[in-house]
Amino acid sequence: SGTAVAVGLDLGTSGVRAAALDAAGDLVGFAAAPFADAAETRSPAAWWRGVSACLADLAAACPLAAVRGLAVDGTSGTVLAVDEADAPVGDVLMYNDPCPDAAVVAAVDAAAPGSSPARGASSGLARAVHLSRAPGAARVLHQADWILMRLSGAAPLTDENNALKTGYDLDAEAWPEWIEAAGLDRARLPQVVRAGAPLGLAGSQGRALGLPEACRLHAGTTDGCASFLATGAARPGEAVTALGSTLVVKLASARPVNAPAYGIYSHRVGDAWLAGGASNSGGAVIRALFGDERLDALTARLDPDRPTGLDYYPLLKPGERFPVSDPNFAPRLEPRPADDAVFFQAVLEGLAGIEALAYRRLAELGAPSPVSLRTVGGGARNPVWTRMRERALGVPFLPARSVEAAVGTAALVLSRLEASE
Ligand code: ADP
Repeated sequence: SGTAVAVGLDLGTSGVRAAALDAAGDLVGFAAAPFADAAETRSPAAWWRGVSACLADLAAACPLAAVRGLAVDGTSGTVLAVDEADAPVGDVLMYNDPCPDAAVVAAVDAAAPGSSPARGASSGLARAVHLSRAPGAARVLHQADWILMRLSGAAPLTDENNALKTGYDLDAEAWPEWIEAAGLDRARLPQVVRAGAPLGLAGSQGRALGLPEACRLHAGTTDGCASFLATGAARPGEAVTALGSTLVVKLASARPVNAPAYGIYSHRVGDAWLAGGASNSGGAVIRALFGDERLDALTARLDPDRPTGLDYYPLLKPGERFPVSDPNFAPRLEPRPADDAVFFQAVLEGLAGIEALAYRRLAELGAPSPVSLRTVGGGARNPVWTRMRERALGVPFLPARSVEAAVGTAALVLSRLEASE
């Protein structure tokens, strides 16, 4: 196999992962360091131990001497405060932690324009404003920024993808003035560069973890963007559906697509934009109705050539964001056939209908129609559902190159290696 030239580090909820790619983009090394418990998931010291363990394991799997670039992705919206010496102070707030201070959420909502992804109860900016008030806090960083800063030994930087939910203005390419009205001095946020942008060389702490002197650090991205890139999708029209607990569609587009009512925002990645939306529907409905054990037996009895015509919209409770935006939207799971295989088929037909509607909605909002589709998540394992989806969507299905975000981040580095030369 080839020589490792690009490394991606992924800071996820379950642990740290590292992937090394050769110049042809083939995977030549992979390592994982799971977190021991939920406390480690939100511990910067544990993140760093994970990075250190992964790079050591990676070096054992493949020599790192020829690595020319490395980037880090992290969970989107996870923030921490650091002091003047860049040491963490106070608690980490994870991407799914509500901001503990309702007044801060209200201040962000009052200051932010209606179209801003920084609004709402799950606002990354609200978490950042709150943390900036911790005693001794000098700056607020995203998870990936803190790792990047340590590896580089340079001033903290972030990337447009991590900055989006913190309120960064992609048109103006600046932290907007209204962030001050939301309660945060913009000087306390890191400078922002494009995802994947070549930065400086590895610093002493990075070299101590085995990175060669010529290894350049690159601006990172979010785990969501990295997971998209990992599949091999990148060009406008290339789509990825994630069939996990929720149904999430993502699509590369030549233009940004923004529709706050549907929870849709676009990330800039390379020359394209990554637009996506998440339905409340998905595999969680399958799990609640059928469990996990019977799925193979039920799948064997599906008859996709005879659609049930039941027109379900599977949801666990009322309310949908995308592809329909209606907080009171009613689930449709009736009438229930006596045969559970027919019931299962109707649920899968309903989910395939939601997926097709999701891509039509993105197209209405200005995205391209899909030219190809890759699938990730637990539902990708069901070959009969896949056939039903191929029929409903009418676009060629391609295998995902990888489902590891670390591979996507390494691919982002690889795509920018020439730019740093
Ligand atoms: P998560 O989003 O929680 O990481 P996964 O990607 O692991 O989820 O996918 C789990 C989901 O996939 C579950 O909701 C499960 O019901 C669904 N699933 C697993 N196997 C199948 C199958 N053979 N057919 C349909 N759905 C499946």
